Amino acid sequence: MATYNDEGIVLRRIDYGEADRILTVLTRRHGKIGVIARAVRRPQSRLASRTDLFVRSNMQLARGRGELDVLTQAEPIASSPHASDPRRAACASLCAELTDRVLEDHHPDDEIYTLVADALVACADTSRDPRAAVVWFGRRMIDRLGYAPQLYDCAACGRRLGEQAARFSAEGGGLLCPQCAAHDPAAIECSVRVIKCLRVAASDDTSLWARLQLDPATLAVLERVTEAELAQHLDRRLRSFDVLRALETAPS
Ligand SMILES: [Zn+2]
Repeated sequence: MATYNDEGIVLRRIDYGEADRILTVLTRRHGKIGVIARAVRRPQSRLASRTDLFVRSNMQLARGRGELDVLTQAEPIASSPHASDPRRAACASLCAELTDRVLEDHHPDDEIYTLVADALVACADTSRDPRAAVVWFGRRMIDRLGYAPQLYDCAACGRRLGEQAARFSAEGGGLLCPQCAAHDPAAIECSVRVIKCLRVAASDDTSLWARLQLDPATLAVLERVTEAELAQHLDRRLRSFDVLRALETAPS
């Protein structure tokens, strides 16, 4: 069997047969691929920990006869430190679910690969709320998909928006002036602060985003806006948002 090497991140995995696992792996040079990891559920398997969710490794893969390539070796680059914290794990799952949902197989994209790898690292960064990573990642993916919302002019009538709170319409494609907002009951109220954060994310300025003070209330609105847009643009809702919300409201 022909083999090749690539760097990859495990986005999804399911147990298969007696001891195998089927993985969805985002690779840097081959895009998203299906991989079978044979016998990794046996206790003595060397590759078992390399098939954990969100682990990033240098992989050696063999071309399979069918849809799935075969994992033959893996040297970890980054582990998966999210597992011990359910909120961080849920945020990482959300990034992985979104990636899996929007990317087609075998379409490599180095920028998206880096975006996903960085998002998973950020979800594990204990100095920051992991939802900041989810919002950043979601907003960057929305832009990459070509759905960048209108954040400076009213998305309905085109009037310039003043420096004041406004409502965000996922269906309308951005912020609305007060007159237009009256016609969209689903539009989400956004403070001046939330609007500023949306604009920073749209500018793709990672260092400015890293310096923003994101309090829980601001993050909650940013997350709602991002979820509403993704629901608007993807066929199905992302289940990970429900998991995350259940964790946010559960007593700690
Ligand atoms: Zn308007």
